[in-house]
Amino acid sequence: MEGKVDLLNMEIDELGNFLKSLGEQKFRARQIFEWVNKGIKDIDSMTNLSKALREKLKLKAYINNFEIVKKLISKVDGTRKYIFKLYDNDVIESVLMKYSYGFSVCISSQAGCKMGCSFCASTGAGFNRNLSAGEMLDQVLTIKNDIKERIGNVVIMGIGEPLDNYDNLIKFLRLINNKDGLNIGLRHITVSTCGLVPQILELSKENMPITLSVSLHAPDDETRRKIMPINNKYPLDKLIEACKIYTIITNRRITFEYSLIDGVNDSLEHAKKLAILIKGMLCHVNLIPVNTVSNTGYEKSSKETIQMFKDLLERHGIKVTVRRELGSEINAACGQLRRNIIS
Ligand code: SAH
Repeated sequence: MEGKVDLLNMEIDELGNFLKSLGEQKFRARQIFEWVNKGIKDIDSMTNLSKALREKLKLKAYINNFEIVKKLISKVDGTRKYIFKLYDNDVIESVLMKYSYGFSVCISSQAGCKMGCSFCASTGAGFNRNLSAGEMLDQVLTIKNDIKERIGNVVIMGIGEPLDNYDNLIKFLRLINNKDGLNIGLRHITVSTCGLVPQILELSKENMPITLSVSLHAPDDETRRKIMPINNKYPLDKLIEACKIYTIITNRRITFEYSLIDGVNDSLEHAKKLAILIKGMLCHVNLIPVNTVSNTGYEKSSKETIQMFKDLLERHGIKVTVRRELGSEINAACGQLRRNIIS
């Protein structure tokens, strides 16, 4: 890998310039792009390129290729969890979920995470590095080729904070949306953030109609600070202001994620404060019974509490869904397996 470029991490223009630097014709770029975006891992399989060009490419380039370390398949709902080994031996997780509308893949954006949310399993295993756009793309490609089915939706809700890896995220969105590649519509892609305010504002100007999901988890600074350190940097008034600007510029509805943790953020008072905080916004709330992660001491709220929380928000005219739990017996929730492997 030393000194070589990853062909999966290149847009057609970049491939064109790369070919030019090798003294080759630019029009080959699209052919190479099509091959790697089909999931071809061997440069010699690019049969419409001359042998000489393939040899040249092999000297200067490689194609990212994860080793599948583990694949767990839920007997209950068919959810699949993949553990991929990266070229530098770190591991990441991706999850395949089946919904009535098709297959959805949840991918990681970083090897580890710096954000430190107290309820999240990714925090425990530390941060190593950003994933490249090609490594984000290859999670989708590898799973697609493993199941031999079309992937309709992608959510960037696995390990890492995607807006902390902003440039690679934007490049990934362009790669996956390319009509000569996987051609997945941006409206079928969700980016989830713990609330990096400057990047939310930057994203609003990209003219990319993705769905933005904001991990709120608390309706006041005091509660949020306790579970999400990022709130010290970007308090709620700044975050909500950025979200409002985002919805105005993009005219896209924001999803607020709210994981209900027993006795921490799930009282009627919290629900009321949340209703006041987001009233009138172009948004929707997704309530998630928190996944218990060992050593956090957090437990899920009861069914009754979740229902009460939902009812109160709905009485204020807020749209609410409660997330269905998939793959719980295979630890499908984010970060749980990397943590077990790393520690
Ligand atoms: N860093 C991004 C994306 C990764 S986390 C973010 O914070 O949004 C994806 C989602 O899972 C976030 O909403 C996160 O808060 C939530 N999450 C993390 N650990 C969880 C747990 N133990 N139970 C329920 N949701 C959890």
